Amino acid sequence: MDISDIAEKITAGDRRALARAITLVESTRAEHRVQALELADRLRGGGRQALRIGLSGTPGVGKSTFIESFGLMLVAQGLRVAVLAVDPSSARSGGSILGDKTRMERLSREPMAFIRPSPSQTHLGGVARRTREAVGLCEAAGFDVVLIETVGVGQSETVVAELSDLFILLLAPAGGDELQGVKRGIMEMADIILVNKADGDLKAAAMRTCADYAGALRLLRRRPQDPDGFPKAMTVSALELAGLEVAWAEMKTLRDWRQSHGHWDTRRATQSRHWFEDEVRQGLLRALTEQPKIRAAMGAMGAAVARGEMTPDSAAAQMLRDLAAHK
Ligand code: GDP
Repeated sequence: MDISDIAEKITAGDRRALARAITLVESTRAEHRVQALELADRLRGGGRQALRIGLSGTPGVGKSTFIESFGLMLVAQGLRVAVLAVDPSSARSGGSILGDKTRMERLSREPMAFIRPSPSQTHLGGVARRTREAVGLCEAAGFDVVLIETVGVGQSETVVAELSDLFILLLAPAGGDELQGVKRGIMEMADIILVNKADGDLKAAAMRTCADYAGALRLLRRRPQDPDGFPKAMTVSALELAGLEVAWAEMKTLRDWRQSHGHWDTRRATQSRHWFEDEVRQGLLRALTEQPKIRAAMGAMGAAVARGEMTPDSAAAQMLRDLAAHK
């Protein structure tokens, strides 16, 4: 692959070149990694920034319907929209909740949009890196908005929150008055909670759920990176296109406020540092555990622990001492 040629095409907004480049960053082959890093370095200086919106929600809340409606609305406003997915299910089963090609059919036909299904068969750390690099490529390609979607299971929300400027939690109306088992940590990451399906028979339930979450959000500590009134909960109907304009206006309010108060740059700087450290940590772990001597020692110690001859903690302490002593 000619890296300077593909970099040029990406900068010109060529979606096929972008798709090829994302395939390159998804590859784990060593020569592809070298090329992917070279490409990212070439594109880094472009200075283009998209609004990165993380969107999380359990299967069935209406993520694809929302992204299609919301994306089409943005496209109609003349904005270029990219959609990427972080799908932890593909790591486990090889099947994907988010990768289905038939999702967002209308949006995918828009020349101003770019949709990339999640890659299959890789661990979450790998997915995070691939998504991070794909976000960078979309920015270099001049997209105005990059939507990063994930299902609300496992650690994937944290990964997405660490990749985005705004984090949106999408919910469906609850049957009762329970807070749908949404973990506190995820609520704390959310900048805006959107209760979807506020239409027809579900409208009243959606309003109740929204009020419950608005109350729960008020109990959270106010964050310095937020203007008054944030984080906030709102109702939308992705199906009937209700509330989408308002939701977009709120996202822009948050973006503008953070940009003018320095929080935007700080957040991105903190994220970059986080990803650098994460990458080094993972690389170190890989390098260590790939060494035959260390693998053998891990295996032997693991067996001793399994036989009950050592406690897990004392075995780990011993292992770390040996490592520190370069045994
Ligand atoms: P995802 O799994 O989160 O991507 O959810 P989907 O977008 O596939 O939607 C799941 C189901 O909810 C589908 O049957 C949609 O038609 C329905 N749905 C999505 N958005 C709305 C909405 O705003 N109102 C109503 N009533 N149904 C919706």
